[in-house]
Amino acid sequence: MAAAAASAQAQAVGGGALGPGGGPPQPNPASDQIASPPATAAAIAQTNTTAISVTNQPHQHHGHTFCKKTFHKPTYCHHCTDMLWGLIQQGFTCEVCNFVVHDRCLKTVVSPCSSIAATLIKNPVAHCWSEPFHHKRKFCNVCRKRLDDSESVHCEICEYFVHVECQDFAVADCKENATWVPGKKLGQVKHQHHWREGNLPAGNTKCALCKKTCWSQECLSGYRCEWCGLACHAACHVQVSSECKFGMLEPIYLPPHSVSIPRTEVPMEAIIGVQVRRKDTLSREYSCPRSTSEEFPSGDGSGCSSKGPRDSEDYAQGHPPSSKDNRQDKNKNQEERDEEVIKVYDGNSSMRRRIFRLVSVQRTAPLRQVLTQALRAFHITRDPNVFHLTDAYSPDEGILQDPHPIMSLHRREGKRPAVFLRFKDRDNDSGEVRVYPGKLQVSQALCTVPVDSNMTVGDLIREALKRFGLDDKNCEDYRCSEVLLDRGVSERVLSWNERPWEIVKQLGKDSIRQMELMRFYLQLKQDPHGPNVALFVGNLPPNLSERNYENILTDFLGRENKFSKIGPIYYEYGSMVITYEDAEKAVRALYTLRESKYEDKPLLVMLLPNIEPSMIPEGVQPLLVFVNVKSGGCQGLELISSFRKLLNPYQVFDLDNGGPLPGLYVFRNVKNYKILVCGGDGTIGWVLQCLDNVGQDSQCSSPACAIVPLGTGNDLARVLRWGSGYTGGEDPLNLLRDVIDAEEIRLDRWTVVFHPEDKPDDSVKQVNSTGSTSEDNSQIFVMNNYFGIGIDADLCLDFHNAREENPGKFISRLHNKSVYVKMGLRKIVGPSMCKDLHKEVRLEVDGKHVELPQVEGIIILNILSWGSGANPWGPEKDDQFSKPNHWDGMLEVVGVTGVVHLGQIQSGLRTAMRIAQGGHIKIHLNSDIPVQVDGEPWVQSACDVVVLKSALKATMLKKNKFKRRPTEPCILPSANGEGGKSTDD
Ligand SMILES: [Zn+2]
Ligand SMILES: [Zn+2]
Ligand SMILES: [Zn+2]
Ligand SMILES: [Zn+2]
Ligand SMILES: [Zn+2]
Ligand SMILES: [Zn+2]
Repeated sequence: MAAAAASAQAQAVGGGALGPGGGPPQPNPASDQIASPPATAAAIAQTNTTAISVTNQPHQHHGHTFCKKTFHKPTYCHHCTDMLWGLIQQGFTCEVCNFVVHDRCLKTVVSPCSSIAATLIKNPVAHCWSEPFHHKRKFCNVCRKRLDDSESVHCEICEYFVHVECQDFAVADCKENATWVPGKKLGQVKHQHHWREGNLPAGNTKCALCKKTCWSQECLSGYRCEWCGLACHAACHVQVSSECKFGMLEPIYLPPHSVSIPRTEVPMEAIIGVQVRRKDTLSREYSCPRSTSEEFPSGDGSGCSSKGPRDSEDYAQGHPPSSKDNRQDKNKNQEERDEEVIKVYDGNSSMRRRIFRLVSVQRTAPLRQVLTQALRAFHITRDPNVFHLTDAYSPDEGILQDPHPIMSLHRREGKRPAVFLRFKDRDNDSGEVRVYPGKLQVSQALCTVPVDSNMTVGDLIREALKRFGLDDKNCEDYRCSEVLLDRGVSERVLSWNERPWEIVKQLGKDSIRQMELMRFYLQLKQDPHGPNVALFVGNLPPNLSERNYENILTDFLGRENKFSKIGPIYYEYGSMVITYEDAEKAVRALYTLRESKYEDKPLLVMLLPNIEPSMIPEGVQPLLVFVNVKSGGCQGLELISSFRKLLNPYQVFDLDNGGPLPGLYVFRNVKNYKILVCGGDGTIGWVLQCLDNVGQDSQCSSPACAIVPLGTGNDLARVLRWGSGYTGGEDPLNLLRDVIDAEEIRLDRWTVVFHPEDKPDDSVKQVNSTGSTSEDNSQIFVMNNYFGIGIDADLCLDFHNAREENPGKFISRLHNKSVYVKMGLRKIVGPSMCKDLHKEVRLEVDGKHVELPQVEGIIILNILSWGSGANPWGPEKDDQFSKPNHWDGMLEVVGVTGVVHLGQIQSGLRTAMRIAQGGHIKIHLNSDIPVQVDGEPWVQSACDVVVLKSALKATMLKKNKFKRRPTEPCILPSANGEGGKSTDD
């Protein structure tokens, strides 16, 4: 059924969206061309192919233009992954997309050709491009060739890979991560697999249907679901049940149908904050009106997404029509002399951006053949009759004509001849356009509406509603946008009086390829996202008044673009959420605020998705992932990119973008969720602290936290069995499975209050980033791990200062440890600030005074790990004290005699001196002494310190002990294929 629908859809699309209005489908231009004798087609002759009309059907649903071919190297079938046998004419290849297939597989091909793939997508979703990179053992999703040799880019949230020069032809079919529709109930949602062709995980990937290997290292082959990881052969994937349940990650997956985000031109990269340097992700290339050339200053190609100079004659998009290895086998002299390589531009915008394609043609080739080759180079397989070629270098852009169109081209010194591919817009004052229903709940994927030059957008809406069976609806309630698929996906709402056919033709002047890909999109006027669009704004000064914040923002935005609501405001952080009632205003505000600075600091602004909690199925606890990309070298960056692919990218947050607050705000209405923090103990403390701040406004006040430890230290992570630090060795999928299996435990948290002695001059205060100052000048900290006084805090402080001075050096764990040791040695010989500490400190535990032995340091422990995994308390049983843990409401107090003792504890040779155990601790410091709370050190002046149990509790996740067998995760199809086949034939 799925296949039938796809083919019906393809039929409609293949009918020629812009063909002469209303007529019957035209004969397939591709098969037309194939019927011409091979001798006249130089390119075809050169690759030694024989033209064959594959089937008599005018429209094959896959859209390929197959030709028989002789391969000179071992070649594999992209459909079934088997090798092509024989010496000559072993199989077929598509002239447009290089798909290779067996004779025997030809009838069952299902993978769509790149020439039609874009039109098959109901809701185009732009990919989120990485920086250019050299990928090994991957294949291009556009030209299907290996990526090894040239630069390529990949999508940050799905498994799409392309050559940089193929990027313009990428199909905008990324995962759709926010599909909430108003009025739809959870029971009505049927989530479907999102199939991605090729680049399956290397190794033993088995087909879910036929159980045979479906992975190949030889070609782009096989399909895999981007959500659940189900893998299948091309032929098998259309037979598997279409429903997707997110595989083994279902218990923590944030379902896309619970997420909404306004559909705007803001690219995904900007919304989820992918760290890319490109500034132009925020600039739109085709904006209205397009006829002016301001956006594309001619000459240098700047102001657009071009990377590097495009002036060079060699720079061409796509691949030269003949590859070298093919040529070598040929007797080439005669042919080469007869051939010429020409540049083809598909419009004015391409000319300005210097994006062209090279086409190799015979000098004597007839016009029709040159035209067809030019169209193929742009992956267009439509009727060539509506196009013509013009001479780019002739003074009046003359139209090419038979005979010998190539020989009569104007030439420029040292340059290849260049032609424009043009739509014959004067001869075509009517045609057809495609209208897609977007999120409207109708059965058709799209409809085709005949249009002429006089028709308005209003008429188009009326016609489209009729075709979608919505005639009873009021067309005033709808609006129509044009959606462009140039690199990304951009949308512009059209006004009622614009003329669709003129829009199409205008676009064609700029780029035929864009004209082919553009679509009209029908939508309810009332924003389906709902009335509230939230922006997170950060980087303002902390602790101003609400009025103050409001004025600052209104100054930037202007009265007419003011938000409808402000709040919550996170005063301590200088950040807040502002809400708009309409998406367009919100987007305008996003752009304005992004460009704004307050006191020389650029504002941080994010467009936040909205989660509808009733759409999260019972039993699912979505995982909110925070990654501190700055911890642990580049591991944070690798993790965030893996998690964005494995999970819904809207549940993965980069702490570099406004810290934990944006994520916690987005999840505030979710009744039951978990958190995964990737970072050091400090990062966990930060997240817990923010949780404390937002707790009362959230449905789930104490979500359980799991950890992927990054960087050094990680005592809390060790205690909870998450390990000492992630080294990149473990599969991120297994990290997530550990989170699913982990058990919930309680973590006591403690409040440490420093109350300074009253002095007449108390102006010099150490204000700490995690502490807050109360009215009576006391400072309050939340402590999760430990609180050190004296020698260990002193070392910690030296280390901290050295790191502040030279952060780049402190990335490796080994280096950090050696610096620590060196500083310790210096302490042994140098004067100590902590000599006779026991005389400067008075300790009281649970109301009783405790006599201190001779020590240079005191450590108060909540967890039984300190200083990167050491256990100062020690394992021995003791009649005097009960066995400590981190949820018994008790703290352990130990003493350290000096820096040598400290070193011995750290290397596990000795334990510290057990001093006391209790739930309420009072300390008096007589003089300036170094202290540290959870690894954050400073020098504290004389004061009273109270440590008491905090009302804030944390629920942590403790990793389960059992070892998972290192087997390939096996996902079975949820049901037998709709084709009814589930076993081998
Ligand atoms: Zn095959
Ligand atoms: Zn193809
Ligand atoms: Zn490619
Ligand atoms: Zn993608
Ligand atoms: Zn799936
Ligand atoms: Zn199979």
